[in-house]
Amino acid sequence: MSGTLYTVSAPSGAGKTSLLKALLEQRPELRVSVSHTTRQMRPGEQDGVNYHFVTEQAFLSMLERAEFLEHARVFGNLYGTSQLWVQDQLDAGTDVILEIDWQGAAQVRRLMPATRAIFILPPSRAALEERLTARGQDDAATIARRLQEAVQEMSHYVEADYLVINRDFDAALRELDAIFTSERLRTDPQQRRHAKLLRALLD
Ligand code: 5GP
Repeated sequence: MSGTLYTVSAPSGAGKTSLLKALLEQRPELRVSVSHTTRQMRPGEQDGVNYHFVTEQAFLSMLERAEFLEHARVFGNLYGTSQLWVQDQLDAGTDVILEIDWQGAAQVRRLMPATRAIFILPPSRAALEERLTARGQDDAATIARRLQEAVQEMSHYVEADYLVINRDFDAALRELDAIFTSERLRTDPQQRRHAKLLRALLD
């Protein structure tokens, strides 16, 4: 039995991480892949939980050994998804979420066309700017650069299958949850899940 692979992309400041955290609390059957990255650990982050934090050299050796399903350079740091982990989960019938940028999502769709791509957008430019400046530690040039990067990421929403606008957290969470409910109800996975029942009904 094969699980479904999802990508979730969003500009930073759209609330993606909080939404996914809440989604997982209500759907413990979903698994989120823990990526490898070369970026510095932020306060509060844990190695092996938020990311596998590795050196550039270690990342490049993994890349050489073709251990990544996809990888990309984002804001100057390398990020990649473990091919083996994802494949093991899917083979076991587990649905997997990749929280990755648009470049990675495009690579995954090319390799695995059945992947479902979800995009999350903020409700307005002002809300995005507000969330990007909320930390209050960054200078104007840094904020301007992050805003520019966010706009670049957002321009790729058209490539996704589903679009969620995070205007209201609870409403966005319900919409996100509805995507997973309807995907689970597609005939293909339902047939695999209920093979015995279907056989009994039709015998
Ligand atoms: P952050 O460093 O703020 O956690 O993430 C920065 C960006 O990198 C986000 O857009 C995030 O979705 C993306 N990202 C995180 N992990 C991966 C990955 O494994 N592959 C790709 N392509 N992007 C990733």
